[in-house]
Amino acid sequence: MNTTVDLRSDTVTQPTAAMREAMMGAPLGDDVFGDDPSVQALQERIAAITGKEAALFMPSGTQSNLCAMLSHCERGEEYIVGQNAHTYRYEGGGAAVLGSIQPQPLAQNASGQMQLADIAAAIKPDDPHFARTRLLCLENTWNGHPMPADYLDGATALAREHGLSVHLDGARVFNAAVAAGGDPYAAVRGIVDRFDSVSVCFSKGLGAPVGSALCGSQDLIRRALRWRKMLGGGLRQSGLLAAAAHHALDHHVRRLADDHALAQRLAQGLAGIDGLSVRSAQTNIVFVDVAGGHGPGLLGHLARDGVLATGLIGLRFVTHLGVDAAGIDRAIASTRAFFAQGCAAPAARADGTAVY
Ligand SMILES: *Cc1c(COP(=O)(O)O)cnc(C)c1O
Repeated sequence: MNTTVDLRSDTVTQPTAAMREAMMGAPLGDDVFGDDPSVQALQERIAAITGKEAALFMPSGTQSNLCAMLSHCERGEEYIVGQNAHTYRYEGGGAAVLGSIQPQPLAQNASGQMQLADIAAAIKPDDPHFARTRLLCLENTWNGHPMPADYLDGATALAREHGLSVHLDGARVFNAAVAAGGDPYAAVRGIVDRFDSVSVCFSKGLGAPVGSALCGSQDLIRRALRWRKMLGGGLRQSGLLAAAAHHALDHHVRRLADDHALAQRLAQGLAGIDGLSVRSAQTNIVFVDVAGGHGPGLLGHLARDGVLATGLIGLRFVTHLGVDAAGIDRAIASTRAFFAQGCAAPAARADGTAVY
């Protein structure tokens, strides 16, 4: 009954029994020699799903995005990116540190979109005063927001007009695809068709313990392979991990709709409570603004009731395959009780560190 309802992130999922079984049965080789059949098969499969020539299995989404930026851009070039995009704000400045690639961050609206006029204005003329603008990075979903097709069309077309490449941080692109309705594999393909490269995470809502993939042209993936090796991302019997991703693609794509339904259930349950307002819940992430500085108090109260979330003023709740309706209802009841009791902060401090 009192198991933890962990809504900090969809990265907290544990591999299911069936996934563990698939991992244990996977044929293995040595992927640095290029002969791990499970990794090979996964790379071919995700390349086919995304409609790209090739793919590379990566230990993390951060390394996947970094390899993409290093493969698209030379030293002294720059990428245009949202001020709150993962590839700018949450990856330790890796492109700048390791690639001498300059980010050009731009403001985003509440749905994560940059103004096309801002993008156009940020593209530098060919002049030795400026870093050479080389790449546009977008993210889908961004903070749980699926990007509208016309925005993706407009931004990528603008980038191409100016000779830029376009990369999609699609850590949660399967959530965007499922939210679009219809066949999610076709929807993923439709979203990423506009991009030269896409990074997808298996370790978020898809529920694998480890792994992402970078997908793109043969040429790009060859360059990324070299960078991955330099970054220490060349893994050996990684078929064990690729098998988990395979299993996720077989069994955990359509069920993302369940996570989205649970996020709706949470958003609706919280919507009526005085003292907080639900900002958005379009896929599997619910943001809630808490009035009166009661965010940390609420987090602590929830934690004492075995419900974990992150944030400070805006709290973040993420649904995933390790949560069910009863858990969501517990989160709602605990929140309701906190406000009903006059927002008394618990003695124990919440461990509310952000996990992205
Ligand atoms: C999680 C995430 C990544 C990659 O994160 P890792 O923890 O390195 O796998 C990249 N972009 C976005 C938008 C993410 O949510």
